[in-house]
Amino acid sequence: MLSDLKKLYRRFKAWQENPFEYHDSHIHHGCCNCGAESENNYCPRCGQKAVHGPITWRSVWQGIMDVWGVGTRSLPYTLWQLLWRPGYLIRDYISGKRQVSFPPVKMMVIVGLIAMLADNWMTDANSQSAADPITSTGLIYYWDLVTTWLLNHIEWVTLVAFSYCIIPIWILFRSAPAYPGHNLPQGFFIQVFSATQFLLIGTFLLEPIAVLFSLGVDIIIGSTVTVVVPIMLLINYKQLFGYGWWGTFWRVLMIIPFGVLIYRLMVRIFYAVNSLLVEPGDMVMEFWQDLMIIADVLMLMWLLAEIVGVINRKSWRELGWQAFKRPLLIAAGALLTGFACYRMGVDGAVTGLVQSYINIIA
Ligand SMILES: [Zn+2]
Repeated sequence: MLSDLKKLYRRFKAWQENPFEYHDSHIHHGCCNCGAESENNYCPRCGQKAVHGPITWRSVWQGIMDVWGVGTRSLPYTLWQLLWRPGYLIRDYISGKRQVSFPPVKMMVIVGLIAMLADNWMTDANSQSAADPITSTGLIYYWDLVTTWLLNHIEWVTLVAFSYCIIPIWILFRSAPAYPGHNLPQGFFIQVFSATQFLLIGTFLLEPIAVLFSLGVDIIIGSTVTVVVPIMLLINYKQLFGYGWWGTFWRVLMIIPFGVLIYRLMVRIFYAVNSLLVEPGDMVMEFWQDLMIIADVLMLMWLLAEIVGVINRKSWRELGWQAFKRPLLIAAGALLTGFACYRMGVDGAVTGLVQSYINIIA
């Protein structure tokens, strides 16, 4: 009994790591399209698939299933993989095995649309009624317009939220044992897969549970942010990057401060540009304050990245004290910009970070 379970688990594990086996057809055939003879799965001259013979009832079935993609690339099978081997699927894809997955961006859009429809169907239509009219001016108006729209379209918030992870993940995981040196475009696809997975779990697991037990939105969002997403990311990044549980855990935890800082950076840059373009004159002081905050946030991010870099490379083992020279220099710089923020009477990067943590807890 126990050994059966063990065997089953080993088979599952093997499937997780590599579910695909490719064989040549080894049947000599003439291509139905161009007539070239071969033993391959695809015609070497025109590219038509070998199994595509004359039109039969089987072709009707294949034609219908084509909507969802075919074979290993089918949408249902890719979603199935996204549930049971998410990190391995992502690693396969970014390392060049494109055939294992339905085109990811297309998949994300389709799942997003289905999630939106399901969401409208399951939740009360009244809950999305009249928002406050937007009264702000200048570029801020567009910022408010976009954020209001996003708040009413929670599915797309997911995608925006995950895109914040691209840079933190690159900083934290670029020395990973299973896939070292991933680049930012690969980081983009990592987040596309993660966002799709989140939409899938949210729409077809969490939301039905919420409707079934008539749980409040607060409980659902709270438990999603504190439990579901961290577990999801932990499993994804462990499979994808190959660190142990602890190594994955602290890196996933570090996404939060980086995410908060990047958000702050974007908001401040936006406000700085706004005060320059729209209301020059009266807002000059605020412009310099924004610039100082931007500098401080950048310094703190740089410092965090340096610390992670030292841990990633384990360079202190060979270099000793030398490994900390640059981090210490940057720490001094961060102290300077932090002090400047304090003198200007604005919240620096550290204060802002602490405040967001208090907001999250409260
Ligand atoms: Zn052919």
